[in-house]
Amino acid sequence: MSIEINLEGKVAVVTGAGRGIGKSVAVVMAQAGADVVLAARTASQLDETAKEVRSMGQRALCLPTDVSQKSEVEKLMTAAVEELGGLHILVNNAGIVVPAPLFEMKEEDWDRVLAINLKSMFLCTQAAGRYMAKQKYGKIVNMASTGGIVARPNNASYHASKAAVIHFTKATAIEWIRYNINVNSIGPGTTDTELLDEFLQNSPREKTIKGIPIRRLADCMEVANIALFLASDLSSYLVGENIIVDGGLTIP
Ligand code: NDP
Repeated sequence: MSIEINLEGKVAVVTGAGRGIGKSVAVVMAQAGADVVLAARTASQLDETAKEVRSMGQRALCLPTDVSQKSEVEKLMTAAVEELGGLHILVNNAGIVVPAPLFEMKEEDWDRVLAINLKSMFLCTQAAGRYMAKQKYGKIVNMASTGGIVARPNNASYHASKAAVIHFTKATAIEWIRYNINVNSIGPGTTDTELLDEFLQNSPREKTIKGIPIRRLADCMEVANIALFLASDLSSYLVGENIIVDGGLTIP
């Protein structure tokens, strides 16, 4: 006997789906049979992800969106429902990092990091949750980070945003489980993406890898598979959990 995750008939909205972890999340959702709404700002990257989703026989809707803007987020969720016929899964994945020592951190950069990493989760969750609550079904997966539980120098805005994502997840989860909406988060460790290079700021990858017990970076698919589990009914008793996927990085 084998266990299969089947998302046929489900519509998933994935933010930050143009590259990196979000692209892998979109692909893995399509592999499991979901139709996928792809959101990020760069249309050409969304088109590339859409090609992969369609090659699996699933529908893909590309919607260039800035997830920190309420009006754009509302259009995104409405389009999912009107054009793909539903909204069952939301993966709040879009995120940025703007490292700087605290004395040099610019106010506008602090605001931008908090807007894209945290406020976007409030906006997307609220807009998608209205549909999910009505249908009494929803799976919301928030991309946090190990940076939400441990801190390193020169990245206070990122660490603060990700710690807040973990607690926003718990607060939303406890409020919405009554609507049969499961809200959980993922805490990836060092994952092989463009964002990682910004995070490391010229520090060699080899040095970072030496500090990870598994001695390698995470592949995006290894994070996306956790999102798939959380989007499926296999995780039906998980409420407000933060699943760390970090190759042992944060084992004390
Ligand atoms: P990438 O930089 O590779 O991808 C980020 C995605 O988010 C892109 O598609 C980008 O597209 C999109 N995005 C950024 N800003 C916005 C915005 N305002 N509106 C809509 N989309 C936006 O990053 P990763 O794949 O590495 O990161 C994905 C998530 O995983 C982030 O939340 C990150 O914090 C988290 N994470 C990553 C880790 C890592 O080591 N890589 C570790 C822990 C957590 P565009 O710029 O075109 O909008």
